Amino acid sequence: MKRDNRPWQTLTPAALRWDQPDARGNACPYSSTFGDVYYSRDDGIEESRYVFLQGNRVQERLRHHPRRHFCIAETGFGTGLNFLLSWQLWRDQPGPRPGLHYIAIEKHPLSRQDLARALSPWPALKPLADHLLQGYPGLVPGQHRLLLDKGRVILDLWWHDVNEALPDLAGRDEELVDAWYLDGFAPAVNESMWRLDMLHAMAILSLPEATFATFTAAGQVRRDLAAAGFRVERAPGYGRKRECLRGVLQQRPGPAADPVTPWDLPRARQPAPETVLVVGGGLAGCTAAAALARRGLRVRLLERASLAGEGSGNDQGILYTRLSHRHSVLTDFAVQSFCFAAQYYGALFERGLLVDGDDGELCGSFHPSGDARELAAMSTLLQPVPELAQVLDAPGANDVLGITQAQGGYWFPASGWLRPKSVCRELIAATNIEVTEYCGQVSLQRIEGGWAAKASGDTLAMAPCAVIATGTGTTALASLEWLPLQAIRGQTTQLQSSPNLGELQSALCHEGYIAPARRGTHCIGATFDLHDGERNLRPRDHRRNLAALAAAVPSWRSDLEALDPERLDGRVGFRCASPDYLPLAGPVPDRDAFLRDYAPLRKNAKQILQTRGKYMTGLYVTVGHGSRGLSSTPLAAELLASQICGEPPPLSRELARALSPARFIIRDLGRNKL
Ligand code: SAM
Repeated sequence: MKRDNRPWQTLTPAALRWDQPDARGNACPYSSTFGDVYYSRDDGIEESRYVFLQGNRVQERLRHHPRRHFCIAETGFGTGLNFLLSWQLWRDQPGPRPGLHYIAIEKHPLSRQDLARALSPWPALKPLADHLLQGYPGLVPGQHRLLLDKGRVILDLWWHDVNEALPDLAGRDEELVDAWYLDGFAPAVNESMWRLDMLHAMAILSLPEATFATFTAAGQVRRDLAAAGFRVERAPGYGRKRECLRGVLQQRPGPAADPVTPWDLPRARQPAPETVLVVGGGLAGCTAAAALARRGLRVRLLERASLAGEGSGNDQGILYTRLSHRHSVLTDFAVQSFCFAAQYYGALFERGLLVDGDDGELCGSFHPSGDARELAAMSTLLQPVPELAQVLDAPGANDVLGITQAQGGYWFPASGWLRPKSVCRELIAATNIEVTEYCGQVSLQRIEGGWAAKASGDTLAMAPCAVIATGTGTTALASLEWLPLQAIRGQTTQLQSSPNLGELQSALCHEGYIAPARRGTHCIGATFDLHDGERNLRPRDHRRNLAALAAAVPSWRSDLEALDPERLDGRVGFRCASPDYLPLAGPVPDRDAFLRDYAPLRKNAKQILQTRGKYMTGLYVTVGHGSRGLSSTPLAAELLASQICGEPPPLSRELARALSPARFIIRDLGRNKL
């Protein structure tokens, strides 16, 4: 699924006709591309329940499931009907039950309007459908994770061709899926959903005893499923259909040769631990702690000073992202992590866990741009996804900001500002997270069966697994000295609001940033200085912040020039950044073993070695989030949690590799620099 440098474009939505009502007279979606229905016109719900849910014995298996989550994967998300019925069934289970992880792959998602229309005939599903619609990523390309039911239900929407997505997932050679819903259109009209290679990938992804069910009984599908490793049975079909197929994995095929050097695949997999140490209580540490705690793990979080006191310590930060007309791992991660973060914080506000105006506000943010050509091109590209971003001209910008702008730019309606300290406090409030603040400089020591966290000679905690989220302090830890992290000094300025500044209605990201005031004060910023370790506030840096703001909002210039930088308050923080501006999130490689195992890359970086990576047992990092921690840390935390718990990943393999800390060793070997 390599997309680097391909033109970025939104997905082509499903082309639908609505002129064929179902048996009750409800408008029913019909694919004009494939000439087939999305669900039975006799009774869509009953057919789905019979073919997919009962065909996989989902209800019975949820009752007796031995693991933390039950994973269903579906080819063809369509209207989401199968998903909603599975979620409803999960909800209706009495007593303890595993979490539900649902992966759905879809090449032509329905537009939001069509999705709402397709689900409207079923009032009993409305509350769930409303949640789905709220988090629905529309036509934004990529992989999208939705946390539903307080995160007990994870919906991974892979907006890709199934022939790309399944091999990508299977390429990691992990057994992840309990039950398959094969719901492409009929093989006669859409052979792309039934290819042998795809069924083979499906078998690789299957857990022992994984089942499948499908509405079709086509002979070729039956034979190919058997060839891929499934025992296939014919069952009576629903309604007018004579037969359908269901079955169980009999033999998992070995993985195919890897098309890339599998340095990202750990040679030895660890079972999910019961307890995890998290070192560092900024956004990276707190989002990781929350993601692990949500999965039922016990978390011990250690912070040398106060929570969100360092890189995450500003009073206001912006939920930031960047767009480009070309795909790159940087853009794709920026967009996907932003979409996830906006949902993530939105849910905290909705549940009353964050308070509007005090802990933040998802009031949108505007990013002026002087690049008229790029804006014109992006304006067209973004038209189908106004919920992600819109190009506005200057008058449009004035409307959303409430202040005068001289130029147009990008408007991100789901963005806004947050107070990282409030977010961190809320994230660690779970009962299975134990936090120790002010524990002094923590070091980690390898011990029998795990890691011990020590400070001033005392052992503070031990666990089989540790997550390091110590920002710029990370390279002080043993085994991590080599990480290429940089500290970038940033100074913010606290500005008393005024009638003029008070007109600002949403966040403005110019060269710096400003958001509507929190408790009468705007936190503006921030300077950006590499190789600058000065911890004290500098009046000249306040001056720089004020000058940048005055240039962005000339109507405020006289207000800003009246201020005395010597008397202004603010804060100095150090962002932790990586050389390629992507965070580091993943397992920590055993550097010496990597240098040995991948030494041949020095001579030929392009060759493919079939050697898996050796990683430090149970050691992970999430660092290098730079200025974008509010956007990047929640999804990085999901990636780590999936790796630690052996769950389906939230990102394509290409993106997970782009975030892996080991990338720097591989890159430097390839450049013969090590
Ligand atoms: N399960 C859906 C539901 O609950 O509404 C109905 C799925 S519909 C019968 C088949 C879906 O497969 C369509 O949404 C279609 O866009 C999708 N599809 C077709 N070819 C595909 C491909 N090659 N890769 C991914 N999705 C594809």
